[in-house]
Amino acid sequence: MRVLWRRYAPSAAFFEPVQPQGRISENGPMRFCRLFHVIVFGLGAAASHAEAQSARVPKGQAPGRAAAHVHTHLKRHPRVALTFDDLPAAGGLPVDETRVDIVTRLADELKAAHLKGVYGFVNAIDLENDSDVQEALQRWVSSGMNIGNHTWSHPSLNSVSAHTFEQDIARDEPTLRQYAGDRDWHWFRFPYLEEGATLEKRNHVRQWLREHGYRIAQVTLTIQDDDWSDPYIRCLAKHDEAGIAWLKQSYVENAAHLIRLGREEELIVFGHEIPNVLLLHATGFTTLMLPSLLQILRQDGFRFMPLAKVERNSAYALDPSLGLADGGTLPSQLIEARHLKWPAFKPEPLQSLDRICR
Ligand SMILES: [Zn+2]
Repeated sequence: MRVLWRRYAPSAAFFEPVQPQGRISENGPMRFCRLFHVIVFGLGAAASHAEAQSARVPKGQAPGRAAAHVHTHLKRHPRVALTFDDLPAAGGLPVDETRVDIVTRLADELKAAHLKGVYGFVNAIDLENDSDVQEALQRWVSSGMNIGNHTWSHPSLNSVSAHTFEQDIARDEPTLRQYAGDRDWHWFRFPYLEEGATLEKRNHVRQWLREHGYRIAQVTLTIQDDDWSDPYIRCLAKHDEAGIAWLKQSYVENAAHLIRLGREEELIVFGHEIPNVLLLHATGFTTLMLPSLLQILRQDGFRFMPLAKVERNSAYALDPSLGLADGGTLPSQLIEARHLKWPAFKPEPLQSLDRICR
């Protein structure tokens, strides 16, 4: 399930690395998420330069205002904890695949990379009356991976009351207790990284989480990996090898860019990098691309750490204390709260992703 937050308005006009063999239609892209979330991006190929310019201005940054220049050196060996949301049924399911197939492959890839105890955040609604999904979660846990709470049904905190949201968190707990046993499942990841559009709502949920023994699994890095999930399933169904090749290439380029961008945001907020938490989704395509992603991280000097150890860093105790309509990573929330300048960025190829393999 995609994260709805977007600090940077998308503009495909600025980032179309490869035109996938003329398969792009003229229609504006329409993207769906489970439940009631529908996003329509109205930027067409004919968007004027002026529109595109304003669209690429990050939220909170006035058009024409220069993006922050980050000169401080990046760490030689930054740290990162990988985390996977929407376990064990993230995104659509490719034909001839099962959730057990995908989750088993994902856990195997992590183990092959010597990553143990990686956290996956569960929506227990997906387990109801689905033995494949139940078995997939069992495989994840028996592979030595951990699970945390991502609410039962993945509501947007912007769309429900704080009380309803808290009940949905509590409804996830019997499943977590059943599968995790005596392991620590008291980690909470906000769906869409939305933590409350008003300060009152934000504080209400935070207090509930504290009272129920949860720590918030904050995020510093996201690569919007789930945006590649539906296009991949379409290309697979069409046996479109060229389309899949483009998806792989664009995924890697986008991941490398957004990882760098997240690190630059930390420099802007903290003056230095902090240990990171990378948000991924347990989709088939993210699983397929995991070795490539690990290679990017290793090339950037990253070393892997468990979530609990990363979030011991004092930066994770910071609370922007701000109602935010859009969700976001911890550094991006702090940039907004402190009215800092956003780093320069390159938007995702959202139009191409929407149009490929139609
Ligand atoms: Zn999610």
